[in-house]
Amino acid sequence: MKNINLLILDDKEENIISLSALLSDIENINIICSTNPNEALKLCWKNDIALALVDVQMPEINGFEFVSLLKSNPKTSHIMAVMVTAISKEDKYLIKGLQSGAVDYLYKPLNPEITIAKVTSFIKQIHIQEEIIQKNIELEESKKALIKANQEAEQARKSKEIFLANMSHEIRTPINGIKGIVHMLKNAYLSLEQLDWINRLEIASSSLLLIINDILDISKIDSGMMKIEMEDFHFTNLLLDLEQMFKIKASDKNLEFDVVLDPKLPTHVHFDSLRLEQIISNFVSNSLKFTEKGKITLTVESLEKKDEIHRIRFSVSDTGIGIKPDSVDKIFLAFEQGDDGITKKFGGTGLGLAIVKRLAELLDGEVHAKSIYGQGSEFSFIVDIKEVKDKVKIKRETNLPYSQFPKLNPINVLVAEDNELNSFMLAHMLQTWNCKVTVVKNGRLALEALEKDNFDLILMDTHMPVMSGFEAIREIRGNIDPTRRQTPIITISASVLEHEQQAAFQVGADEVIGKPFEPTELYQKIIKIYGSGKVNNLPF
Ligand code: ADP
Repeated sequence: MKNINLLILDDKEENIISLSALLSDIENINIICSTNPNEALKLCWKNDIALALVDVQMPEINGFEFVSLLKSNPKTSHIMAVMVTAISKEDKYLIKGLQSGAVDYLYKPLNPEITIAKVTSFIKQIHIQEEIIQKNIELEESKKALIKANQEAEQARKSKEIFLANMSHEIRTPINGIKGIVHMLKNAYLSLEQLDWINRLEIASSSLLLIINDILDISKIDSGMMKIEMEDFHFTNLLLDLEQMFKIKASDKNLEFDVVLDPKLPTHVHFDSLRLEQIISNFVSNSLKFTEKGKITLTVESLEKKDEIHRIRFSVSDTGIGIKPDSVDKIFLAFEQGDDGITKKFGGTGLGLAIVKRLAELLDGEVHAKSIYGQGSEFSFIVDIKEVKDKVKIKRETNLPYSQFPKLNPINVLVAEDNELNSFMLAHMLQTWNCKVTVVKNGRLALEALEKDNFDLILMDTHMPVMSGFEAIREIRGNIDPTRRQTPIITISASVLEHEQQAAFQVGADEVIGKPFEPTELYQKIIKIYGSGKVNNLPF
């Protein structure tokens, strides 16, 4: 414990000697004495005095004045002052002392026990106060450190987000080009052998896209940016579509694929269909990957029903390689695989199940895995799903090649895109649908083109040199000839990050498409813009 400096101020030397002697047994104090108030003030400034015992009756400056001087100076105002007096115990003196800033009185002749008890208790108080001050300083420091760590974490999160946005743009742009050319080639006259090559190319580019999507998904979930989007949809149709899709994939590997549906299941539900599909697909894809012979079964059952809420269990079982017991728990962690040999033999990033687990949590559901090594595994997802009674319009995607989509009435489209492969592919797609197409390479050239010609629609890439898509849209919506300001704009962005897509709407885009996109998506957005009355032209 730190020693405390105690000042005794009394004009009579003998009083100082007797009081010092009285206090000499108290531990952890240094006694500093003075007979002169002026000298005592200087001592208080220079030394770290915590407690002052001040005689009241002194010539020149009396005790009350001395304590007032102490209290009025910020350097000494913290000092605890105790008046030592021989004058009466009348209230008016007491009050005067307390008003000057003293905390207590000691009366002469001093009672040794009371004096020691009071001084000891003040010293204890001072120690406690010092501890509180020290704790406050530490608290303030840790608050500052916490704020700094928070700022650093926020900065790191932002850098990660920017890195992801850039990376997703850089990787998605070429994949978009590859997928587009694949679409174009599928519309060309090809021999069966060439068609087979193109199919392989399509599979390879799709799996590349799956990997980049997985990386983006996990980062989006971790940074709290993954949104759950609830909608009404035809539940049984979704399950049957999955059955159709995976039956083909299973038969390619000579595997059986069965879907067992509980008759108690609702036909229409309100849930996030995209994420549900992602979870089931992930389980089934893994089973397909890790099963060489036998059977894969998707079972969907309603465990219980309360009002319109069904507790539904989706389970996928297989007769594959199984998982070692000590690995079952860790496979839901990011980048973890069953055992080290898996990567070599089957590839994969170890992200799929980590995404599934996080998605399940976002959906308030739970995932489980059971496995017998060498015999097979069962993965399940249990969640509450709300049944809807109203019939829902079933969303169906067409499998037609884009060259066979119904022709549009001729519209004049401006495409602003710096990537040649993408603009070439977009132009081809639009021309197939009957559109007249002008291609420019940046926002500045788009503005110039708009001055020369009337366009019905603008497709605007967001990241372009010289002038970005966002800058160009701002110019179009604010500054060009008023008759052309309202030209519908669809932005095409390789970024899948929500805030970037929102930013596109904020600057004035009518629709946003992420790269790579399916031709139907662009086609449907064009039809939607027609439907909005912004284009004086019927679609067909
Ligand atoms: P990936 O398949 O990309 O490695 P996942 O997160 O989807 O990543 O799976 C993690 C690991 O879990 C796999 O590497 C594999 O060891 C194990 N696993 C997942 N599903 C199965 C399955 N059906 N049968 C056997 N092992 C599986």
